Order: sequence, then structure tokens, then C-alpha cells
Amino acid sequence: MSKIPDPGISDRWILSGREKKNAVDPRRPYAWNMEKERTTTGKIEETATIFLTNRECTFHCLMCDLWKNTTDETVPAGAIPGQIEWALNQLPGAKHLKLYNSGSFFDGKAVPEEDYPQIASLVSHLETVIVESHPRLINEKCLYFRDMIKPELQVALGLETVHREVLRKLNKRMTAEDFLNSVQFLSDHDISSRAFILLRPPFMSETEGIYWAERSLDFAFKTGIECCTVIPVRPGNGAMDRLMELGLFAPPRILSLEKVLEYGIKLKAGRVFADVWDIGKFSICNECLEKRINRLIEMNLTQEISEPIVCGCVRVS
Ligand code: SF4
Ligand SMILES: [Zn+2]
Repeated sequence: MSKIPDPGISDRWILSGREKKNAVDPRRPYAWNMEKERTTTGKIEETATIFLTNRECTFHCLMCDLWKNTTDETVPAGAIPGQIEWALNQLPGAKHLKLYNSGSFFDGKAVPEEDYPQIASLVSHLETVIVESHPRLINEKCLYFRDMIKPELQVALGLETVHREVLRKLNKRMTAEDFLNSVQFLSDHDISSRAFILLRPPFMSETEGIYWAERSLDFAFKTGIECCTVIPVRPGNGAMDRLMELGLFAPPRILSLEKVLEYGIKLKAGRVFADVWDIGKFSICNECLEKRINRLIEMNLTQEISEPIVCGCVRVS
């Protein structure tokens, strides 16, 4: 990769590109859904995801758009359990639950600690609870919460990329070594973890995006991560759109996501999923889009390589 240009990225630069947040209600999650996910035992089971409404994350990562559905202030005690209770009533039958909060579950300003006992009681019928956290917020608090809940706890951590300079420019305020230490802390306490890995963050060509997503998968599994989700990077948060205008970012292609997913599955080091949310945005061809989405979903579920899609749109990038 040639020298990475410096557009002067800082918290201020990132924040200045933002538009207004969406209106959210602290009594309701801003989204919820149920999807099938392959579990560690190889079964395909219903997994609910609740996107909690809470205070904005204190980090300001360059590629993040999760702030759009957050509040400026900490939500009142009891609001988060109320959201969980409400959403679980809409999502009967789930065995596994992702409590994603647009930040870090263990950030006390996002999820008040006094809510933990009520949350524990609400999730007691489940087998697994997955929460997300910035790696630097992994500490004894995770053990406190783990000891309080009946289901198995898994923590999802954003690795993003192991490209040192790009990771620094993402303003995540974390190094790969920080990530490794957090995964080891969790493993030492019998808590499993999953990693979020970006496909084609800014400052990378399509080929470099694939290469570094694959190196990030290698690294994540070496640290002891159990499962990785590959996320294609998208514009839409202001900062990424400015980088696009500067020619420093372009969204990856769906074909690249297929390639990275194939690579990760072939590693046989743990589960690897492709994030297919709004995946149509990464396609340049209506002819094969649906087939490619189905192929990604199938590979997510089977963890086997499905037949490649043949289409005239494929050319060497
Ligand atoms: S730590 Fe996560 S939620 Fe917070 S800004 Fe970064 S990517 Fe967004
Ligand atoms: Zn096509």
C-alpha cells in the first residue's frame, strides 16, 4: 500500500461531518430482529438481536454510524431492562440473544450497572447472551455481569483491521495488542468472544481490502476469538462520505465479501459470518444480486463453501 494520505482526521473532523441524529425513545429499542445463526454446536437456531437505545458511545470511530440512534444523555435506570422486556415479547422462541447497544455494554454511561440484576432476570431462560464492547472496556465488570446471568456470555469486540496505520486512522484508540489483551482476559475467565472485522476500510483499494480482512481473520483467530463477522464498510455517516469525495474511500463489492467469507470458512478456525445487512448497496449487478445474497446466507449457515455464482458482471478488479 502506498503512503496513506492524511486528511487531518480527529474527533472534531469526524464530528463536524455529522448530520442530526434520528429521534429515539429511551423506552424502546431502536430496532430488533430474529435471524437464524449457526451455533458453536453446528445447529442452526433462532437468534434475537435487540438494538438498545442508549447514550452515545464515547469513542468516535471514523467509520461508525451507530451514533445516529443514540441519546445524548444516559437513559434512566430501568429503561434498558424495559426495552429488553418489550422486545423479547415481540421475539418469542429465541434461544440466543444479542444485546447490541451502539457502543459498549460495559460502559456505565450507556448501560447503568444497577440495571444488571433486572437484565439477568429477563434473560434467564436463554442459552446465550452476546453483548458488544470496545476492547479497552473489558475488565472485571464483565466477570461481574457474567456471574450474574444464567446463559453463557459472549462478548463481541471490534477488531476492525490489523493494518496498523489504518487502525490508527480509524480513531478507534486501540491497537491490535489491546485487542489481543482483551480477548486473553476474557479467555482466561472462560468467556468466549467474537470479532467484528471490516472489509475495505478507508485508504484501501479493493484488493487491499480483501487482503487485510483476511489478515485480520488470521489474527483474530490466533488471539482466541471463537467467531468473526466480516462487515463491508459503507458510507453515510458524514465522515465516510467526505473521504469518498476525497477519493480515500470506496465501498467494497459483494464479490469481495464472498471471497473473504470463503477464506475465513476455509480456515476452519471458528465460525465466520458475513454481515448481509443492506447488502444490496454493495452490488453493481441486479442480475446476480439475489443469488449472491442467498449464497452468503447459505455459507453463513452451513460454514461450507457454496457453488460460485456465474455472471457476466464479474471481471478482475
Ligand atoms: S467503539 Fe464501536 S460504537 Fe463506539 S464509535 Fe467505535 S465503532 Fe462506534
Ligand atoms: Zn452479476
